[in-house]
Amino acid sequence: MNRSRSHDLFRQAQAVLPGGVHSPVRAFRGVGGDPVFFERGEGAWLVDVDGNRYVDYVGSWGPLLMGHAWAPAVDAVCEAAKRGTSFGAPHEAEVVFAEAIIRAVPSVEKVRLVSSGTEATSAAIRLARAATGRDRILKFEGCYHGAADSLLVKAGSGVETLGLPDSPGVPADLAKHTLTLPYNDIEKLREFFDRHGDTIAGAILEPVVGNMGVLPPKEGFHEALRELCTKHGTVLIWDEVMTGFRLARGGAQARFGITPDLTTFGKVIGGGLPVGAYGGKRELMKLIAPEGPVYQAGTLSGNPLAVAAGQAMLKAIEDPALFDGLEKTSARLCDGLSALATEAGVPHRLNRVGSMWTIFFTPDEVYDYPTAKTADTKRFGRFYHAMLDRGVYLPPSQFEAAFVSTAHGDAEVEHTLAAAREAFKSL
Ligand code: PMP
Repeated sequence: MNRSRSHDLFRQAQAVLPGGVHSPVRAFRGVGGDPVFFERGEGAWLVDVDGNRYVDYVGSWGPLLMGHAWAPAVDAVCEAAKRGTSFGAPHEAEVVFAEAIIRAVPSVEKVRLVSSGTEATSAAIRLARAATGRDRILKFEGCYHGAADSLLVKAGSGVETLGLPDSPGVPADLAKHTLTLPYNDIEKLREFFDRHGDTIAGAILEPVVGNMGVLPPKEGFHEALRELCTKHGTVLIWDEVMTGFRLARGGAQARFGITPDLTTFGKVIGGGLPVGAYGGKRELMKLIAPEGPVYQAGTLSGNPLAVAAGQAMLKAIEDPALFDGLEKTSARLCDGLSALATEAGVPHRLNRVGSMWTIFFTPDEVYDYPTAKTADTKRFGRFYHAMLDRGVYLPPSQFEAAFVSTAHGDAEVEHTLAAAREAFKSL
């Protein structure tokens, strides 16, 4: 497959962008080789600048639940743009959008819009600290909550791929307030809360992890954390930036039946435009300025284009058949991949929750950071390029989630499985 134009553009990019990209994992450091430059997206497909076509399982890292250039969002954005691209002042659609979020996610009684997931999690942490008068937060090893200082401690995602568990530039005095525990370890959780619970402002986690690859929560893990947070007055923050509006209309919390105190959103909520949000209990949200003293603001927050795309998305997911369809396509795809890997004698674990999945090249169960690290990343890199050359675009790292959209159908699954049959054999 000829990708000479991508290659040339990457050289050009490296002269002016750090590492040639605007976000680290895009640079393909996790799999080697040059990243692909894209010209356009059409439903489940991406077309690169050399005219090659790929079935896309990155979906812009999660937002594109309905695939690329989804007409209802595109039309809504174009219509909104004609009326003005930004007001920096209240407008009706942002209120109606907030009402739709609250209808979909009952734990959210009030919500504030921001422009990225990182902004949402940073604000939620500040709010938890302000509400409790405590500084410490608890996060889980390998969970990623955005590139904010307090949260770049034992984070997954691009940080993991680059081997920078703590980034230089994060003050040690700040990082020391972020305590970490292994994901899915209920015993350690109980010990930790016995010892430190009353000093912890907030506990933040991905309810299904996507940022060390996909890891489902173990039975009882969420229940234990909910109970301990309530007991110790710790604010439970579910980071649903990835899972929100994807695993169900009401997100992972609807799936698992847990009520967090605060929830952060991003990705799907914006229908492919830059939107994030945080919301939760009224008594917490009333502390946010100007109703309360906790400062948080944004020039483009509630941006009418982003809100228009988000509204189209939230309307689409009111149809429960949409999630049934996603489940079926994802199951067919992942069962097929796993069967082909087994047939080719490739030890693997395929973790999937709804339309989020990862194939780990390890024979062992993957349920936390150390077990994810048992995966053979070199082998993943070879598999990655074998798939890429056969027209399948996967997340370029072993430690990321792949996503299925409603635009993926039988033809895309067939294409992917045919590529995978050859790719597994080539390993
Ligand atoms: N939280 C989670 C769970 C995420 O997956 C991400 C992004 N991958 C973020 C927060 C940060 O969101 P953003 O990149 O929009 O700042």
